[in-house]
Amino acid sequence: MTVEIRRSSSPEETERIASAMAMRIAPGTVITLDGDLGAGKTCFVRGLARGLGADPHAVSSPTFVIEHRHGCDAGTLVHIDAYRIRSAEDLASIGWDELLAEGQAVVAVEWPSRIEAALPAVRIDVRIRHVGEEVREIEIERVQPGERATACRICGAVLGAEGDGRFCSPRCRAADLGRWFRGDYAIGRPIEEDDLADDIRRAGPERRD
Ligand SMILES: [Zn+2]
Repeated sequence: MTVEIRRSSSPEETERIASAMAMRIAPGTVITLDGDLGAGKTCFVRGLARGLGADPHAVSSPTFVIEHRHGCDAGTLVHIDAYRIRSAEDLASIGWDELLAEGQAVVAVEWPSRIEAALPAVRIDVRIRHVGEEVREIEIERVQPGERATACRICGAVLGAEGDGRFCSPRCRAADLGRWFRGDYAIGRPIEEDDLADDIRRAGPERRD
């Protein structure tokens, strides 16, 4: 795994960092976006859209829907707000497994901890942290499958060579997802609609070039 740390001192710079990254990634790449509220996750997605040749102005926080799709030169950018995903059915409703299997779209996931068990073992994790009023530290980690676990996280069954090294079966993966949705795994304090609105405002959706 490789980690790259970038510093951004404005939303424009965050967007440029994302845009440069988008030009180096292949279709089928899953990018997770973690960050404080107002850190600029949506701004980062706007940069990805620009780098992929999609219309960056069409990108907004997907807050009130689970996903947005943007057509672009490189295929499709799918922007997912996993905070809205409450069940394995919700994940199925956006065709998550097909999306990963087809490998045609670049997929950006906000609130990835919500669907941790469903994330592919190979992906790019982006973490954006406030380090000053406008300054952000952007950590870009290329995640590779680490040492494979020998036992299923859920049932303890011995894992074979198939699968992603975490679960023995789709059933156990779904069980792990269920724990997330029931809140057995905490993701910090509950999120208020105001927080999300704040994220949108600070990310500057009204900004133009
Ligand atoms: Zn199992």
